[in-house]
Amino acid sequence: MQELIYHSTRDTSLTATASEAILRGIAPDGGLYVPNRIPTLKKSFDELSMMSYPEVAYEVLKLFLTDFTDDEVRTAVNSAYNSNNFDREDITCLMKANGTYYLELFHGRTIAFKDMALSILPHLMSISARKNNLKEKIVILTATSGDTGKAALEGFANVPGTGIVVFYPKDGVSSFQERQMVTQEGDNTHVIGIRGNFDDAQREVKKIFTDDAFAARMKEAGYVFSSANSINIGRLIPQIAYYVYAYTRLMEDEITFVVPTGNFGNILAAYYACRMDVPVSKLICASNDNKVLFDFFETGVYDRNRDFILTSSPSMDILISSNLERLIFELAGDETGELMKNLATTGRYEVKNFKSEDTDTNPATLFRGEFATGEEMAEEIRHVYKDCGYVLDPHTAVASASYRKYLADTRDLTPTVIASTASPYKFSASVLKAIEGDAFKPGTDKELIERLNKLSGVEIPAAVERALNGTIRHNTVCDPDKMKDEIAKIFLG
Ligand SMILES: *Cc1c(COP(=O)(O)O)cnc(C)c1O
Repeated sequence: MQELIYHSTRDTSLTATASEAILRGIAPDGGLYVPNRIPTLKKSFDELSMMSYPEVAYEVLKLFLTDFTDDEVRTAVNSAYNSNNFDREDITCLMKANGTYYLELFHGRTIAFKDMALSILPHLMSISARKNNLKEKIVILTATSGDTGKAALEGFANVPGTGIVVFYPKDGVSSFQERQMVTQEGDNTHVIGIRGNFDDAQREVKKIFTDDAFAARMKEAGYVFSSANSINIGRLIPQIAYYVYAYTRLMEDEITFVVPTGNFGNILAAYYACRMDVPVSKLICASNDNKVLFDFFETGVYDRNRDFILTSSPSMDILISSNLERLIFELAGDETGELMKNLATTGRYEVKNFKSEDTDTNPATLFRGEFATGEEMAEEIRHVYKDCGYVLDPHTAVASASYRKYLADTRDLTPTVIASTASPYKFSASVLKAIEGDAFKPGTDKELIERLNKLSGVEIPAAVERALNGTIRHNTVCDPDKMKDEIAKIFLG
């Protein structure tokens, strides 16, 4: 069999081993690393169904991390998926409500699904640095729409040989999300608010990553950049594991996954799981009012030229879904670079002959776009709570409402798993507003969290207590075009 290596989506001759791809984050030409083939699972589903989460993760990760030893993969997996980092023994679980399964991915240190990958990425990175005899310190640069930043900060805080800088849209995250970040401890952590939205932050970070002159100055001072965003394959690969795990808990003939989507990382991991032979019927890509992906799956035209809407599901407020480039590579191959150039210059591209081959393996037919407005999202929270007492966060509710629309449209009764991406405690105000309607009264984060606790009966996670009681340690704010200067101030003096 052909050896598994990684190459850029824009130039297949730019290759890297798994550890090199993890260290670099992004390919030198600005493309994203993708595996040259998707491996298939070596264990049967029956065998996998008897395994714990860390065991399943090990089986999946070792197939992709081909230059890691089995011991290295096992060490990384066990260092991440344990009771220090997760408040459930089983790491993740399926909850049945209203006839659908919710895959709760929010039991980690920051109560969002990002912990599933960011609790292991620092370990993968340390191992990769050792393997490649890296002498410099790794500086993680991250643009966040709210949840990645905190999860990355928790993952990298005080990890020797690393530093981390997180940029978040000052007015684009919930007050609790901001609190979680600005109270972050650790000598190597830096949190900076920007006057702009997530796309501004992400664009500038990408620019800094490909700025050779700046990289040279940093290297001279003993630093190299890497990324903890889902453009890093070290983020993506661990996410495949929970789709395999979810399937092996159910063992149905086929299942559909519904994923609340922003940067297209989570749902891409579901797609890779499908390519590893997990029997997937449909992948429903759920968007909020920023429904650029819904339009794309309808037409094959990606067009970001539209207003950026701030919603109550802020981690999905994205108009440039970076990881879509990896799916585009499956559809358009060598033309990917050209399409991405169009995106950068005109904000738009079109995939030719989208949906032309109507086969199950054509990604364009496997995926289905749906979206839910803010009102539909709130209605979904209210109604799932009324029907069965289960409380959804706004992101999960966007997915749940999208699935409801899909059901009404298709009457497709395939067993379905909705990726539940955040604890409702992370967005207490929106959740209470949805449930209480006109009776809702605003309050401090602490008051709202206590009210939600009374109403849901779900124990308040330790992560919430930590954020509420933490001291504010970070207060820098800058314009997007000053982000590079801020980094220089921190590391170059
Ligand atoms: C990041 C995030 C999403 C979007 O995931 P992508 O991988 O960016 O598509 C959805 N919900 C929550 C709660 C998130 O934190």
